[in-house]
Amino acid sequence: MWYSTCFETRGTIGGIVIMPNILVVEDSPAVRQLIVFALKRLPDAKIVEAVNGMDALNKLSFEAFDLILADINMPVMDGLKLIGLLRNEPKYKDIPIIVITTEGVEEDRKKAMALGANAYLSKPIHTYELLKAVEEFLTK
Ligand SMILES: [Mg+2]
Repeated sequence: MWYSTCFETRGTIGGIVIMPNILVVEDSPAVRQLIVFALKRLPDAKIVEAVNGMDALNKLSFEAFDLILADINMPVMDGLKLIGLLRNEPKYKDIPIIVITTEGVEEDRKKAMALGANAYLSKPIHTYELLKAVEEFLTK
């Protein structure tokens, strides 16, 4: 019931996703907190946190997301594995993914983009850059 109600209120108005549901996948509590704090500037966004790729898959099985922000290096299931799985799953293949990469590790960024990530941001995260990237994918 909650799920259907939720779906009815979602959608786009004037090309902008209303009440976007954003999944943040990051194992570092400090970085995750920073990202969530920045995203709270989006007044109507709902933010769900996952601590690794496996946790993200679990959260994805319960609700629909408009955007995923994913770290690369994580225990249990890393970001590259997660992106690969999502891009091979019809249900998830079109969800925009912004990868959060460690500064200077260009190899990870290339691999993530090759697997189907839509954009990347380098750590350290800057609120302005993060919001700019996020808003780009919440505008259809
Ligand atoms: Mg990490």
